[in-house]
Amino acid sequence: MLVNSNAILLDASKKGYAVPAYNINNLEWAKYILQACEKDESPVILAFTENVINYVGGYKTAHSIIESLIDDLSISVPVVLHLDHAKTFESCKQAIDAGFTSVMIDASHKTLDENIDLTCEVVNYANKFNVSVEAELGHIGNGNQDLENSDVEECKNFVLSTEINSFAPSVGNYHGVYVDEPKIDFELLGTICKETKIPLVFHGGSFLDDNKIRTAIFCGVCKININTELQFAWAEAVRKYLNYNTDEIDPRKIISSGEDKLKKVVHEKNDLFGSKNRANVSLF
Ligand code: 13P
Repeated sequence: MLVNSNAILLDASKKGYAVPAYNINNLEWAKYILQACEKDESPVILAFTENVINYVGGYKTAHSIIESLIDDLSISVPVVLHLDHAKTFESCKQAIDAGFTSVMIDASHKTLDENIDLTCEVVNYANKFNVSVEAELGHIGNGNQDLENSDVEECKNFVLSTEINSFAPSVGNYHGVYVDEPKIDFELLGTICKETKIPLVFHGGSFLDDNKIRTAIFCGVCKININTELQFAWAEAVRKYLNYNTDEIDPRKIISSGEDKLKKVVHEKNDLFGSKNRANVSLF
């Protein structure tokens, strides 16, 4: 069932686990991830970036793919269709109009006031359709350059002013391949959780040490984003397959040669995040 993220993140927050947010890169990934989460009885957030939405054809296509897969595969776990790192109100509006159940407005590159204004605009629109809103303050970069840790007072002010449903602070985490092990400021993370009192989101969850993931969840993280680690697992398997099967031309065989490795990562993350057997969330 397609749901917004409010009830599942609050459940995770109360019970001390995190809901996985897996980035979707094509139709096949969506199918594999849904099947793996159904097997684990784990709620799941399927995250599309604007680039991937353009790649698959558009917002309506992305929505139809997920809605149809849920139906055809008889997926019974709660599924959130989420827009990841949208930069504009227009992108969020298009996603909401197409049936997405959650959006992230990322105005972290703007000033605090501009970030608040744009986030409020998205929240006002999203509320009319019962769509969840995530936002970011402080900057979570790609790579360890350009990082800016969040300030606690600003976080408090931001969360109060915008009335968002979940919040992505910057605490030393970053996206993509780690150049060196990120230095997560867990004290800052815990303080932000205590002061803002809303579900926290951890961006850049790939390849983070298991103990650091557990500590982040202990500090109040309820949603963890994974993309790069899935890409590595899938691409490595496909590369190996093509090296052994140099004459293969069937796209179905080539793409699905990465299925098992991708599903393995999903099962491991569901286990680590504690989201297995949590599908039975009261959604109302
Ligand atoms: P990774 O690059 O660590 O997989 O992070 C993904 C992410 O945070 C998407 O928003």
